[in-house]
Amino acid sequence: MKIIMLGAPGAGKGTQAKKIAAKYEIPHISTGDIFRANIKNGTELGKKAKTYMDQGLLVPDELVVDLVVDRLNQDDCKKGFVLDGFPRTIPQAEALTEALQSLGQSMDFAIDVNVPDQNIINRMSGRRACVGCGATYHIVYAPTKTEGICDHCGGELILRDDDKPETVENRLKVYHEQTQPLIDYYTKAGILHTVDGTVDIEDVFKAVTDILGA
Ligand code: ADP
Ligand code: AMP
Repeated sequence: MKIIMLGAPGAGKGTQAKKIAAKYEIPHISTGDIFRANIKNGTELGKKAKTYMDQGLLVPDELVVDLVVDRLNQDDCKKGFVLDGFPRTIPQAEALTEALQSLGQSMDFAIDVNVPDQNIINRMSGRRACVGCGATYHIVYAPTKTEGICDHCGGELILRDDDKPETVENRLKVYHEQTQPLIDYYTKAGILHTVDGTVDIEDVFKAVTDILGA
C-alpha cells in the first residue's frame, strides 16, 4: 500500500501517518523528520535545509527529490510506505510519479487531511516535539503523561522554531501557493480522498482506515 498524506502544516499528517504505519506495518517517511535529523547531526544537508525551514520556506526541490527516491528504493519500502510532507510541489509530485513509473509502480492513495487556516495557528502553537526521538504531542489535544517529558523516551519537549506564529503564517502562505495544487494533481490521477481533520485524532483515523480498508 503506497500512501501520500496531504494537508496544511499542522493538519495532522504526521499524527495519522504514524498510526497508519503501525497498523499496516509500512515505513513512515517524513521529509521534515529527515531534515530535522540532519540538522541535529550537523550535516551539510541539515545546514542548507535549516536556512529555508527557519523562514517557513520550502527546501529546494533538488535537495528533496533524490533523498526521497533513494529512501523508496530501500528494501523496507517493497511492501509500501506512507509519505508525510512529500511531495510538496508539482515538480516533486512529477518526480515521484516518474520514479515509480520506472519501476512499473504508482501511488495508491493520496489522503488530504482538511483543516481550515483558522484552526492551524492554534494547533501549531500547542504542538510539542521531543528533542530525543522526534515524537509529537499537543498540550491540549495529545498531552504527555508528565508535562514536558516525552512518553516514549523521557526526552525534553520543545516548541519547534518554525511553529512560532510569525513563521506559521508564512508556512500557510507557502502551502496555499505551492502545495495545495497537488490536490488537483492527485484528483486527476484518480487517487485523492479527503478527510475532515478537525475532529478527534481517533475519528480522523477511523475515516482514514475506512478509505484504506482493513
Ligand atoms: P502535520 O504533520 O500535518 O504538520 P501534526 O500531526 O504534527 O501535523 O499535528 C499538528 C499538531 O496538532 C500536533 O500537536 C498534534 O498532536 C495535533 N493534532 C493532530 N491531529 C489532531 C486532531 N485531529 N485534533 C487535535 N489536535 C490534533
Ligand atoms: P514538516 O515537518 O513536514 O512540517 O516540514 C518542516 C519543514 O521542512 C517545511 O516547512 C520545509 O521547510 C521543509 N520540508 C519538509 N518536507 C519538504 C518538502 N517535501 N519539500 C520542501 N521542503 C520540505
